[in-house]
Parts: sequence; C-alpha cells; structure tokens
Amino acid sequence: MHLAQNTQTRRSIAIVGAGQAGLLLGCGLLDQGYAVTMVTNRTAEDVWNGKVMSSQFIFDPALQIERDFRMNQWEKDCPATDGISFSIPMPDGSGNKAMHWHARLTAPGQSVDQRVKMPGWMKEFVARGGDLRFEDVGVEQLEALSREHELVLLAGGKGEIVNLLGRDESRSPIKQPMRQLALTYVTGMKRHDYYECVNFNLIPGVGEYFVFPALTTHGANGTQACDIMVFEGVPGGPMDCWGDVRSPEQHLAKSLEILKTFVPWEYERSRDCQLTDANGILAGRITPTVRNAVLTLPSGRKVFGMGDAVLVNDPITGQGSNNATKGAKHYYDAILARGDQAFDEAWMRQTFDALYNGYAEKVVRWTNSLLFPPPEHIVKLLGTAQQVPSIASRIANGFNDPRDYANFWFDPADTDRLIDTEMQKLAA
Ligand SMILES: Cc1cc2nc3c(=O)[nH]c(=O)nc-3n(C[C@H](O)[C@H](O)[C@H](O)COP(=O)(O)OP(=O)(O)OC[C@H]3O[C@@H](n4cnc5c(N)ncnc54)[C@H](O)[C@@H]3O)c2cc1C
Repeated sequence: MHLAQNTQTRRSIAIVGAGQAGLLLGCGLLDQGYAVTMVTNRTAEDVWNGKVMSSQFIFDPALQIERDFRMNQWEKDCPATDGISFSIPMPDGSGNKAMHWHARLTAPGQSVDQRVKMPGWMKEFVARGGDLRFEDVGVEQLEALSREHELVLLAGGKGEIVNLLGRDESRSPIKQPMRQLALTYVTGMKRHDYYECVNFNLIPGVGEYFVFPALTTHGANGTQACDIMVFEGVPGGPMDCWGDVRSPEQHLAKSLEILKTFVPWEYERSRDCQLTDANGILAGRITPTVRNAVLTLPSGRKVFGMGDAVLVNDPITGQGSNNATKGAKHYYDAILARGDQAFDEAWMRQTFDALYNGYAEKVVRWTNSLLFPPPEHIVKLLGTAQQVPSIASRIANGFNDPRDYANFWFDPADTDRLIDTEMQKLAA
C-alpha cells in the first residue's frame, strides 16, 4: 500500500480543471489514498448540455492507462476504430484518389465525446471520495488552494487562466494558428467496405479532412454512436470558410459542400447525414504552444501545469487527449514516487522536463511537421505505403506512440533506409 495511506494525515492535492488530464489524475490519486480537491468552472450538466470541444480520439496505449485507472466506463458502448486510412485526391479535380492505403492499428482506438465522459468521470471522482467544487478559478482562488494543499495542479485546458503560465518560446516554434478547425458530429454515415478507420484525407494546399466513429450524447439510452468530421483548413484557403455560418444547419451544409468539392468519396457516404444535435458543431483556431510548467503566485507559492495548459498541439495528429492521458500517468507516477517529500519547484520542473524530453517533444515535432506541405521524402514514403503494407502499418501505428517517427520521418536518409529495408523484405 502506498505511503499516502500509511501516514497519519493524507497528502492533499488540488487540481483545477475537470478534463481529460485533471480527472484522470484526480481519480488515480484518490485510489492511492490522497485527499484530492477538484475545482472546475463547468458542472456536469453544463458539459453534457454544452457544445462539443474536441474530437478526442484516443489510441490504445492511452486507452490502456484509462483501463488501468478503471476509467474505461464506455469501452463496451463506444465503437472501436481498428485502423488508419490515408487518401489524397487527384489534383485535376476529377474526384478520384491519387493515393490510398489503409492499415490496422495493433489495437483499436476510441473516441468518447467529452460531453459524455467528463460528467461520468466527475461522478466517479466523487464516488471515489474526491471533493468536487465548482468555481471559476483565478489568482485569488489559486492562492487559497495553495494555502490549503501541498500541491496545486493547473489543468485548465484552453481556459484563460492557463496563460498565466506563460509561453515557452524556445519550445513553441509556431507563432500563429496554422489551420482553421471545424467539427461536425453526425449520424447516418454509410460505412466503407473495409474496417473502421480514422480516415485521413490530405488535400494539398487546402487542408485535411478526418472522420471516424465515436460515442456521443442524445441517444435513446443516453448515448449513441456517431461519426465525427474534423476539418483542418489552411488559413485563407477554400476550407477556411466558416465565417459566414450562422446556424447548425448551415454548418452541416458547409461540411457537406466541402466534402462534395474536395473528397467526393467521403461525400458519397455522408450525403444523408444528420447532426447529432445542435451543439455537435465547433469552429475555431489554435496556436500550437508549449507553456512554462510552473506558475509563481504573488505569494511566492508554486502551481504546476498539466495537460493542454502546458502542451497544446494542433489537433491534426489527434494527440492532445493522448498527451493529456500519458502526462497524467507520468505525473501520477512522479507524485507517488515523491513519497512524503515536498512538491517543490525543482521537483515540478524535473517532472515536466522528463515528460517533455522523454515523450512530448517528439509528439510536438511530428505534429508541427504535418502543418507544412509534405517534403519530397514524405510524399515518397506515403506513396510507397500504398505498395508496401509494412510501411503503411508503421506509419499508422506511429499514432499510438509518435516517438517512432523520429526513426524515419524527419531525415530523408532515414526514410530511404526504411523504404529500402521494407521493400527488400517484401521482395524476398
Ligand atoms: C477541434 C479539436 C479536435 C481535437 N481532437 C482530438 C483528437 O481527436 N484526439 C486527441 O487526442 N485530442 C484532440 N484534441 C485535443 C484534446 O481535446 C485536448 O488536448 C484535451 O481535451 C486536453 O485535456 P485537458 O484536461 O488538458 O483540458 P480540457 O479537457 O480542456 O479540460 C480543461 C478543464 O478546465 C476547466 N477550466 C478552464 N478554465 C478554468 C478556470 N479558470 N477555473 C476552473 N476550471 C477551469 C474547463 O472547464 C475544463 O473542465 C482536439 C482539440 C480540438 C480543439
């Protein structure tokens, strides 16, 4: 049994923000005997009845962390996604594919709408003995929390408050949003004739369109299966076109218009789709940002950032919730390993740097690389994947743990080496 349960007074930890990062860590720590206070600015009802915030696709290694923390309540209900498909349309506007491949993931991934998941996890947090409070936290509240707790974590996602952490310019090479984002949650999509995939459509100069199955609200028994359309438009390009959309109906119509124009094979299976609900839509932009991990309050006390508060990526690679999950596990391990020693600034910096240098930096680098037109060696790699299934599989399974891309994605010599090796194996 962990030390926190053996000591006379339980170690007390406060977490600001009931999202993927905060709730996972909070519930994990409750299981280990810590006293955890969670302060968040939206109630379960607010979240359930509110707008979608994400497409939150989670790959198996992060799903495994949820399982290990007993936080996989929707695993049986949520459609499983078994692979990644990749398509590029012909440049001539004919509507045909210039490139297409699909490859199985080693284990399926899933997307549970945060409107379903976070209210469920809040309930779970309270059931495990957590103290859940609703308040919009500012500096004053952080000061109060830091007086009452041994450690305060800021897991406020994209909330204003996280800007207090300050941007780490040396780790944030991209200075402005690189995509106009939009989400459309729909029912009624026809299935394609291979296994369920995160379907990645790359439209050169225009942007990317992703679509995959998910579990959302508004079903007969509370939840229902749906598909999430994710649009990533190059700013100023033809997919950066949401400014004049005034209603959910117009949002759906715009989504279908984009599909019809640029990825007609996706339009064919989507033409009869309906919105899941009027809140199943979103449009916005994100500047990829790494923030400083430690905030010093006016009193001199320290607050430790986690999740999107410190690491926000463009969703193009679908890694944010995965990072938040893996980061929560990393912090959990570090908190347990700390025993009864103080959670001081040096420990916070060491903990974040180990996460960044050992994992997140590689995800940031790969994600940022996809925001620029693919260099020649990547076009060659993606094209070769059409003929060589082992290369398609290697690319697909990199989404599980993007550190593998460091072996073949960035340096043309590494890419060539992979292509030669796999082609020789295929020929043998
Ligand atoms: C369009 C889009 C698509 C995405 N698709 C994917 C995907 O497919 N796969 C993937 O892995 N990731 C995806 N992401 C990213 C993913 O959603 C985030 O990385 C993830 O939700 C981060 O979790 P978090 O816990 O750090 O923050 P959040 O989940 O945002 O939680 C933050 C919490 O803090 C609360 N809060 C904020 N400010 C305050 C305050 N002042 N006081 C109290 N509480 C506060 C909020 O209400 C919220 O509960 C996507 C993001 C976007 C925008």
